[in-house]
Amino acid sequence: MNRRDFIKTSLCLGAAAATCGCIYGSKLVYNSEHPENKFRLKHKSDLPKKVRLEACNKCQLNCAACWIRAEEQRIIDEGGGFGYLKFEDFKNFVDKHDFIKEIELSNNGEIFLNPELDDIIKYAYEKNIQLSAQNGVNLNTVSDETLENLVKYKFNAIMVSLDGATPETYSIYRRGGDFNTVISHIKTINKFKEKYNSPYPHLVWQFILFGHNEHEIDKAREMAKELNMEMVYCKNYVTDYSPLKNPKLAQEKTGVHLIDEPEEENNENTEITPEEEKKETKEELAAEIPENTDGRAEQDIETNERFCYQLEYEPQINFNGDLLGCCILSYKNFGTNVFKEGLLGALNSKKVLQAKLMLSDFTTEPYEDNPCSTCGLYTGFKEQNRPIKFKLG
Ligand code: SF4
Ligand code: SF4
Repeated sequence: MNRRDFIKTSLCLGAAAATCGCIYGSKLVYNSEHPENKFRLKHKSDLPKKVRLEACNKCQLNCAACWIRAEEQRIIDEGGGFGYLKFEDFKNFVDKHDFIKEIELSNNGEIFLNPELDDIIKYAYEKNIQLSAQNGVNLNTVSDETLENLVKYKFNAIMVSLDGATPETYSIYRRGGDFNTVISHIKTINKFKEKYNSPYPHLVWQFILFGHNEHEIDKAREMAKELNMEMVYCKNYVTDYSPLKNPKLAQEKTGVHLIDEPEEENNENTEITPEEEKKETKEELAAEIPENTDGRAEQDIETNERFCYQLEYEPQINFNGDLLGCCILSYKNFGTNVFKEGLLGALNSKKVLQAKLMLSDFTTEPYEDNPCSTCGLYTGFKEQNRPIKFKLG
């Protein structure tokens, strides 16, 4: 749920060229003026089988370091909006894209605040689509009927944000949330799992390691076990908020990489090799992004690059259909709407193709109005000469 930050592309020129059947013209455009066209997808079969769809970017909590809650007014001022995915839009999208098999209902809010979620869950089940909420839910506000539907309609996996093992500790970070309510909702899901004799949804307890909750690491693990939940500890990336008092112990207990090893004296080989540095980043980010984003073998992809590969393998769509492209973007977008243009049209829109060109060929100047141009990851890849290898169309 913690992620950062689109103009409709006119299809007139493309449509005109297509209706003219101008093969000569399209070759000319590809080779010279518009080199980004080499990434243009030609067939439905080139499209991803998974998308990330924002179910609701509103939230009832005010977590201490939640950047999106802190930035709500700026986002509105800059033209971003808050709302929820309508069942009608979901149904139309699914009906038009019958090859989609997995949908992660996430990005920047609480999916359970979507009043049409039950219809979405049920329809996805009827269409044999696996739903997940692995980016995190707070699970404070949800009806028993919805909890039953999660089980009855085989919602695949849910990561519950629980940074503490007592109400007092939990509410320090999850401001406005109630620990006992969340635990009671988990127990209700488990009761329904028993009733339906089903392992779904797979439940994960996500515990972000803070200075104020490190004394509850063991207790939380025990509770997760009792609640039949997988335990995932995560590093807190907001370094000035509640830093760990004993990171060494927390690292030993959780296995999360929290401290750098001290440098050995007089050892000329203490410098971190690029391979070691990549490994470290990969481990840290793997804790933040637990799902394999693209179906490729994990070892084939450097973790930071995963965000950009979402453009290709699991594009992020906002609740209103705007193509965010990747989960780093929360309202800035690629100027195209998947609900209107369809996935093929949106992924072939000018800014997406230009982003792929910029990210794969650093001799290309960044496009001024492209959301990737101001992304820190793009700058970092460019500095390190780590191009993204997008498929050609
Ligand atoms: S649960 Fe907390 S971190 Fe997640 S969107 Fe709500 S306020 Fe932000
Ligand atoms: S460079 Fe673009 S695609 Fe990659 S993470 Fe940043 S905004 Fe997303």
